[in-house]
Amino acid sequence: MPEAPDATAIQNPATGEVIERLELAGPAAVDAAVLAARKAQPDWGAATPGERAAVLNRVATLLQERAEDFAAVETRQCGKPIRLSREFDVPGTADNATFFAGAARVLEGKASGEYSAAHTSSIRREPLGVIGSIAPWNYPLNMAGWKVFPALAAGNAVVIKPAEITPLTTVMLARLFEEAGLPDGVLGVVVGTGPVAGEALVSHPEVDMVSFTGSTPVGKRVAELAARGPRRVHLELGGKAPFLVFDDADLEAAVHGAVAGALINGGQDCTAATRAYVQRPLYEQFVAGVADVLGTVRMGDPADPATDLGSLISARQAQRVHGFVSRALAAGARAVRGGSAPDGAFYSPTLLVGAAQDAEIVRDEVFGPVLVVLPFDSDEQGLALANDTRFGLAASAWTRDVFRAGRASRELAAGCVWINDHIPIVSEMPHGGIKASGYGKDMSAYALEEYTAVKHVMTENTGIARKDWHRTVFGAGGGSDV
Ligand code: NAD
Repeated sequence: MPEAPDATAIQNPATGEVIERLELAGPAAVDAAVLAARKAQPDWGAATPGERAAVLNRVATLLQERAEDFAAVETRQCGKPIRLSREFDVPGTADNATFFAGAARVLEGKASGEYSAAHTSSIRREPLGVIGSIAPWNYPLNMAGWKVFPALAAGNAVVIKPAEITPLTTVMLARLFEEAGLPDGVLGVVVGTGPVAGEALVSHPEVDMVSFTGSTPVGKRVAELAARGPRRVHLELGGKAPFLVFDDADLEAAVHGAVAGALINGGQDCTAATRAYVQRPLYEQFVAGVADVLGTVRMGDPADPATDLGSLISARQAQRVHGFVSRALAAGARAVRGGSAPDGAFYSPTLLVGAAQDAEIVRDEVFGPVLVVLPFDSDEQGLALANDTRFGLAASAWTRDVFRAGRASRELAAGCVWINDHIPIVSEMPHGGIKASGYGKDMSAYALEEYTAVKHVMTENTGIARKDWHRTVFGAGGGSDV
């Protein structure tokens, strides 16, 4: 039977099995969720930070209690290995909730004081109101947490639209909030497509801020729509992270780091290691080492704890990845590993060499288990090649030399630079890019601040009617006695 146009079938990409059918939200459902959020926000915004923290902490506890359910559903809807869902997606999200519960209670600002002799100034950080959030499919639960926790911690109401192919754990998270006592309307989930529900949300006149994570082209469209408000926009977009290996690096660490950084979540990670630049003396050994380690990767049933690499998000995505690889091969690159046609949504880990710096495979986001390795000679050249990209989300440098490490951390143009590692994140530190990777930060106190408006309150404290500064308006002897 053909699908009704207003319904979506959520599929397990690894098996093609339909897991659930959901109604798709249209503009009316988005409108209802936004208006409910608008109505609920003032009371939530007036709750004390401690009260908001209590709800977030309860959500973290419930998430830990139901960790196995969440991990199983995340794996089923995404095709990602269950080990990743169990050890990263779910505990990382719970940790994020507890971080923002604590952060809600320690908002910072400039000290109150007399910055003019006649006035006392103080800073208030207030919620913005209703946040419209849009999330991608690669880490659905984690991305929902990154959007929802800081926004709620700061006293906002949120309407979130998950990717329509992976909405299940976001809907489950919203149920945990209900159970944890979040008042009705403060958090709404609309499951719908980008062009319909997404555009209705970011264009809604009652949405005060738009927070988007997804691809750069869609991010541009979202920013255009939000600018019509105008309303604040936060964009977490694509990446093409370089992985820079200097000739004094620990080769074993770099090889394992490159494979892990390239294959995590099937390479469907905005910070994944995608372009490895290796200084000439280590180049051959690095390529051979990566090829060896890739040979040990077990691709298979995502639900099996022994699986390293599950399926990609869809057979379509696997075809898209293969399109990139095929064009790279046609343009002169060589596949040291992989490169073969996909099997449904499964794509073998692929190692390419011999691509040109200006080739599509080196410049564009592939979002699959594909690593390209290129050689470089001088440090200057390596840094220049790494920075030769329109993206700026993440980068790593591998060296045992403290001066090279310091230089790389200063000169690599990205929102995050790792030294001798690639991928780890912590709730206390910000995540977000520069250039075409967007602007704004997720996680950390910086994210909390982004979901607040800074208000300056200035109180005149002399009680003098005719103020000295009035001379700039009335001139000498101006004004009149009243
Ligand atoms: P996408 O841009 O296709 O979709 C992201 C979300 O936007 C989805 O919910 C989608 O339904 C919605 N959307 C699509 N068209 C829309 C429109 N016209 N108006 C409003 N919303 C619309 O991205 P994706 O394929 O789901 O995710 C992969 C992308 O996300 C990659 O580019 C990846 O790098 C990026 N990403 C970035 C970060 C980060 O933190 N910077 C994190 C994860 C993923």
